[in-house]
Amino acid sequence: MTHIKHFDSLEEALVSLRGSGTGIKRADRVAGGDINEAYKLTLADGTFLFMKANARVEESFFAAEAAGLSAIAQTGAIGTPHVFGCGTDNGCGTDKKNGGRPFLLMEFIESGKRIPDYWEVFGRQFAAMHKAGTESFTRGGKYGFLYTNFIGSRDQDNTAHDNWIAFFRDCRLKPQFQSAARYFSPGEQKKAAALLEKLEEVLVEPEYPSLLHGDLWSGNAITGSDGRAWLIDPAVYVGSAEADLAMTELFGGFPRPFYEAYREAAPLQPGYEQRRDLYNLYHLLNHLNLFGRSYLPSVKRVIDQYI
Ligand code: ADP
Repeated sequence: MTHIKHFDSLEEALVSLRGSGTGIKRADRVAGGDINEAYKLTLADGTFLFMKANARVEESFFAAEAAGLSAIAQTGAIGTPHVFGCGTDNGCGTDKKNGGRPFLLMEFIESGKRIPDYWEVFGRQFAAMHKAGTESFTRGGKYGFLYTNFIGSRDQDNTAHDNWIAFFRDCRLKPQFQSAARYFSPGEQKKAAALLEKLEEVLVEPEYPSLLHGDLWSGNAITGSDGRAWLIDPAVYVGSAEADLAMTELFGGFPRPFYEAYREAAPLQPGYEQRRDLYNLYHLLNHLNLFGRSYLPSVKRVIDQYI
């Protein structure tokens, strides 16, 4: 894995990236993020940078995102912004109580018009990412990731496991169920425990491990000036590609050509449709934990589907 560069201040970052005398000419807020402040920085030399900043998080939050973006870039399969590094700035306007404002600097992706076969190309590239080698993304086991990262603003445990189903149980469903315990009656808690016991009956080990984006919904793919999809805001780990594909279907899904091209490039193991909702239970539980009980009915429905 490529090393993520750390800067002691935003000024140091700019000097290191563009040389001294290249300050920020303007900083325009970019809308759309749920968690961080996002900016398009226009530098004095006329170039742009994309910056995320947030005084309420630790720098490790951005280091985790940087590691994820770098891992996706390393597959060479699909566009993702090049990461320049992260740091903590103590300049004016920062939250001094928190010891400064952590930031992440990356390539600014100019938006373009989608190519006519946008979805087919996206599907093929997504499959290629899933088929890329994963050896450098884990240590001590086949599944997981080198670092703990975040799903939304919640910690995502990436402890290495050699068994995919055990990883999905221990590092994905179990911690979410534990955090959500207060929402469940004793009977529902029993059902949840029974579901964790029977994962082996429902899920399958993948034919090969894949690097997953981990949080791919339509808002996390932007169209670059090449007219193709570029992946942003990942929660990467090495896992079963089915879990990544399932997530794309959680909130309405992508158009058919995406899935047709994906399946042609990376055929799915039989029975994917029966496993899909169980994979998405992880995200539904995460939403329940992040945003509250409006997600409870969907969570219960999925549990009942399998119990
Ligand atoms: P958050 O971490 O708060 O969820 P996002 O990663 O979703 O923030 O980014 C916020 C918005 O900024 C996105 O919706 C997207 O439109 C835009 N964006 C993200 N990364 C880049 C980039 N590298 N270049 C240009 N625009 C970007």
